[in-house]
Amino acid sequence: MENSDLKRFLSLVPVDHFERYAANITSDSFFGFPLKPILEVEEHLLAADQKSVGYFSMEYGLSTNTYNPFGSKIPVSEKNSSAGHHIFSNLRAMDYYLVVDAPHRLDLPIYSGGLGVLAGDTLKSAADRGVPLAAVGILWNKGYFKQSFWFKDGQVPEETDWEPSSFPGLVPLETHVDINLKKEIIRLKLWKYFVYSYDKKHVIPLILLDSNVPENTPFTQKLTGQLYKSDNAEWKILQRIILGIGGMKALEKLGYQLNRYHLNEGHAALAFAEKALNKKNPEIDSLKNHFAYTCHTPVAAGHDRFNKKTLEEILPDDIFSLIKKFGSDSGNRDLINLTEHAMNTCHFVNAVAAKHGEVTRLQFPDFKDRIQTITNGVHAHTWVSKPVADVFDAYPKELGDWRQSPMRLKNALALKENPEFRRALWNAHDTNKKNLSLLLKNWRIEPGVFTIAWARRIAAYKRPSLILQDVEKILEIARRVGPIQIIFAGKAHPKDDLGFTYVNEMLSRIDSLDKNRDLVRVLMLENYDTFFGKLLASSVDVWLNNPLPPFEASGTSGMKAILNGVLQLSTLDGWVVEAADKNIGWIFGWEHHGSEIGDERNLRLKEDSDALYAMMENAAKLYYATNLKEGVNFDSDWITKMVHCISEAGFFNTDRMVQEYQTKIWGF
Ligand SMILES: *Cc1c(COP(=O)(O)O)cnc(C)c1O
Repeated sequence: MENSDLKRFLSLVPVDHFERYAANITSDSFFGFPLKPILEVEEHLLAADQKSVGYFSMEYGLSTNTYNPFGSKIPVSEKNSSAGHHIFSNLRAMDYYLVVDAPHRLDLPIYSGGLGVLAGDTLKSAADRGVPLAAVGILWNKGYFKQSFWFKDGQVPEETDWEPSSFPGLVPLETHVDINLKKEIIRLKLWKYFVYSYDKKHVIPLILLDSNVPENTPFTQKLTGQLYKSDNAEWKILQRIILGIGGMKALEKLGYQLNRYHLNEGHAALAFAEKALNKKNPEIDSLKNHFAYTCHTPVAAGHDRFNKKTLEEILPDDIFSLIKKFGSDSGNRDLINLTEHAMNTCHFVNAVAAKHGEVTRLQFPDFKDRIQTITNGVHAHTWVSKPVADVFDAYPKELGDWRQSPMRLKNALALKENPEFRRALWNAHDTNKKNLSLLLKNWRIEPGVFTIAWARRIAAYKRPSLILQDVEKILEIARRVGPIQIIFAGKAHPKDDLGFTYVNEMLSRIDSLDKNRDLVRVLMLENYDTFFGKLLASSVDVWLNNPLPPFEASGTSGMKAILNGVLQLSTLDGWVVEAADKNIGWIFGWEHHGSEIGDERNLRLKEDSDALYAMMENAAKLYYATNLKEGVNFDSDWITKMVHCISEAGFFNTDRMVQEYQTKIWGF
């Protein structure tokens, strides 16, 4: 009986070189997790009369280091624990190296930032809700990149090296697929990873495509090397061919009977062309009803455009003619535009926040009637800190089973006047902040000092250096109100020269505060990842979000912060627009209105940094009026704002988002 479960597993998931995995996969256990849910979902996905979704994404941030970590009975390669972090600060003499405990470093390196984290959170919530879904992505053999700081040199990108064959929970399959191009065949080996629900009762299979096999040429082997490597256009096109065409072929080869395909961003647009191959026009039209596309970017450069000629040289004529038909760029007939391809072929199109919906309709007026809005979220179980989760658990009457239904967090408002709840919430935050201070003690981070973090991808429109525009003003505020700590983290894409310049500029401004370290301490952490994302978003007092409106589609790190009662200091953009009147912090700066999208290069640094300093002073005043020397003022409006943050987290989570996908897009 028991043994037959392992047999069933191996017939459903034919693991290549099973002997290497035999210690970790038994009749009832998959790397320490129950095996049964895998059998159930795999059988469901194979059954023709069931409803199920295929989900495509270029990247997945699964935070395998902080949430539902698999165990392993065989040694895990040292390479899979990403190394320590340098920290750059205005205490230069203190330039220690930060080493984080090994279990916290086992991060599946197949993501770069927010898009991947959203895809990962989507899979986790789909698992929590028991949605039958098979996901496809790419096994990035060289990850994204490892960021190193060198004084006066800024960011120096280094290659990530890791070992998929010993990564817990990841298994190679005997299955492969071939993509036939005009001049060569790309062979893709398939891997599987399983994303479990919070209660381990359901699971989502994630199929990862890998071109690093001996049958391919050395060039082709490297295509699934580094995520978002953009050295030349051909390279980028081939990566999109692998995800879209290879991904669709993989789902079919595995025999999955899917009736919805969901493209997370336009990278996977070619999946439709693959599916439409050899079909007649009426069939192709009805196929569109099975495709959905989530658009994530309002920045022009974010939409993939490729030279038609280059695509024509690579792809066989039959598939190229379909791509030409659906993806010709409306502004330049020599280009293929993957965003337009996706909009033309997916019946369901959604933007990722209300404001982003407005902007997307301006950008693509031809499609405006079809563009819906489903606001992004975060996976509550992944991003809530233990001390805060313990507080939620202590109020079952109001917050109910928030694990099953994060929506219940809305009821936190009913506890707004409850003195025990207010005290518990503040104390949980205090515990988080003390832990952070302990980790960063070499840099003299203190739990009693007003602390702000800015941590996200370093891109021009996100304005990483806004708060450092005039360091004199920060010092003045600190002299008037009290000391200030600012923590930065973020990677700039290796080919983003502007982002690179920002890192340099920030490092030298931080350095210029060298003499005032008693008043203002500024830190920049190397190698931002989901571990630091969770640590910072749950432990600082204020989360700074200062993109130039309207260029932040949604943003999700602030959602991690509100879930932990961390207040927002934000411009009016992305998800924040929907919560701006909900008393979750402070809004400042230039606002976008009207029907012109505007120029993303006009960063408005002077006016918006002045507005930021004014609001930051208000925030610092309230902080020091709450965290008094003689004790905490539990009646403070600061704590009321914390409660409002938690309540809003009842909306800004992926459980609610996936539920909207189910009712508005997938239809089950
Ligand atoms: C949450 C997260 C992001 C997304 O942050 P934004 O606010 O959307 O910019 C990026 N990187 C990491 C590591 C994260 O955890």
